[in-house]
Order: sequence, then structure tokens, then C-alpha cells
Amino acid sequence: QYSMSIPVVTNIELSSLAKLASGKVRDLYNVDDKTLLFVTTDRISAYDVIMANGVPLKGAVLTNISAHWFKVLQERIPDLKTHFITLDPPANLGDADKELVRGRSMQVRKLKVFPVEAIVRGYITGSAWNEYKKSGTVHGLAVPAGLQQCSPFPEPIYTPSTKAELGQHDENITPEQAAKIVGEKYAARIEALALKVYKAGAAYAAERGIIIADTKFEFGLDEETDEIVLIDEVLTPDSSRFWPADEYEVGRDQDSFDKQFLRNWLTKEGLKGKDGVEMPADIAQSTSERYLDAFKRLTGKTLQEALQG
Ligand code: ATP
Ligand code: MG
Repeated sequence: QYSMSIPVVTNIELSSLAKLASGKVRDLYNVDDKTLLFVTTDRISAYDVIMANGVPLKGAVLTNISAHWFKVLQERIPDLKTHFITLDPPANLGDADKELVRGRSMQVRKLKVFPVEAIVRGYITGSAWNEYKKSGTVHGLAVPAGLQQCSPFPEPIYTPSTKAELGQHDENITPEQAAKIVGEKYAARIEALALKVYKAGAAYAAERGIIIADTKFEFGLDEETDEIVLIDEVLTPDSSRFWPADEYEVGRDQDSFDKQFLRNWLTKEGLKGKDGVEMPADIAQSTSERYLDAFKRLTGKTLQEALQG
């Protein structure tokens, strides 16, 4: 099977392109002055630490979910600019390297990244719920009183955070603080765009039985045209909270679509937040199945079909 021949990798070293950066999950390689090869490994983090081993096919799922969204969002928001170029490998990638990144890479436009995480929340959970219980606000914003855990907001809200260096924690900030970071010139456009993309994506996912409770976008600047461009991964289970709609209930925490097995196991074993933990094969496998399930629900195709198409 084609997709089954994609190996599980947590570290990739390409010999034909220079590595420009490496994040928690991705490695960025230089294709040319204007282009990056955006490579997604099978690394997984839970409770803020990366596991020692990877989740089978996770890199391929995340890459192909993002690619699917770039296409869908482009159709639904015709004036949207995205960094997506193609899933095909660049011509200057060597044959051995092609094999290493197969199914898990895309070429994207190299852009100047705005240093904020453009978070949009449709439902109150996570750090927003914790802040709300203490102060009745969310990222310092006034929100209605009387919300229950995991209630929808009357309207999705833009709740940015700082974009911390590797190993640091992102900090929730107000839209005013975000405006100081990205500049007044771009702040309102970034906020409007984040809300627009979230609403289009959440509506699409809702038709497919998935609630996108919240998500994090990143934006870049095309310095030649002064256009704001949607970059990074988009509306994946890693950058968003996906909840199965048929299990959703207000007033309690919701199981996460993808990481629940892993989190439950880490908690049970007392390994929550510990570095270098090796997941047992069955946990890695059931986590993989959840990622594949999210892919199928969103795109209507199996990963296998998408990779062959
Ligand atoms: P996390 O997603 O958990 O916050 P991370 O953001 O450190 O971790 P990854 O997702 O592993 O990192 O790597 C992606 C990196 O690539 C991010 O730093 C992101 O800002 C950057 N990036 C995404 N798209 C582009 C682009 N078109 N041009 C330049 N940099 C980009
Ligand atoms: Mg990231």
C-alpha cells in the first residue's frame, strides 16, 4: 500500500537542500530565494513536550489536510492569498531526499512572518475558560457573563498570543497588544482575515461532523504587494481543537479528537509533561487512526486515496 510505505520519522536530514529552521513538528528547507520546502515530521507533542517516537502517517495527514484547506478556502474566499504552491517536490530535490519527504511536504512561498499567533475562538475552553473563570474576560476582552465550559461565544472572537521562541510559552494578549507587535497598519486586516477564514472553515467542518472549537493561524507579508498571506499549517488537529460534533455537550470538558488516547495514557502512567517519553505501539497506532479519521471526515477521502490522486 502506498501510504503504508511512508516510514515513521521524527528527524529528517535532507542532503540536497539547506535547512533554514526547525520547529516542534516541521522542518523548513530552502528551495530558492522565494520558495521553501515545508516538511512535516511525525513528531507529536502532548502537555507541551515532544514524545520520543512518532505517530505513523501524522506528517502526511497534516500536510494533506492543510493542502485540502488551502483549496477549499480559496474557493470559499476568492480574494484569499495563501503560501501554498504545490504538493509536488521541487526539481532541485535529490532522489533519496524525495523519498524522505514523500507525502509529507509541500512547496510554499517564503514570506516574512508576523510574530503573533492569530488565534480565533468559537467556543470557550482551555486557557480562555481558565481566564474567564477567574476574571470574566478572555485575553482581556469583555465577553458575556454566564457562559458555561465549552459554550459557543455569540460570535467567534480574535484572541491573539505572542509567538514564543522554541521552548518558551506563548502568552495570551489583547488585540491592542497584538496591534503594537504587528503594527497598526496590518492589525485590523489580520484580525478580519483570521475571523473570515475561521468562519469559513468552521462552517465546512460542521457539515462534516467536526466542531472546530478554536484554532491558530499564522500570517505572512508579501513585501512586494503589501498583501497579507495565510501561511503555516491550516485548520489541522494540531493547530486547532477538533471535537466530534456527536459527542459535544456544554458544561464539561470535551475529549480531543486526536490526542485523547495519548493524554489519558500519560496521565495514567504519571508521565504528564515528562521529556523523552516513548509511547507504546498501541497508543501511537490508535493516535494515528484518529488523525486518519479526521482526514477522512474532512476531505471525504482516505489518506491513501489522496496520496494516489
Ligand atoms: P508550534 O506549531 O507547535 O507552535 P512551531 O510553530 O515552533 O511549533 P512548526 O509548526 O514545527 O513550529 O514549524 C513551522 C514554522 O514555519 C513556524 O515557525 C512558522 O512561523 C514558519 N512558517 C510557516 N509558513 C511560513 C512561510 N510561508 N514562510 C516562512 N516561515 C513560515
Ligand atoms: Mg507550528
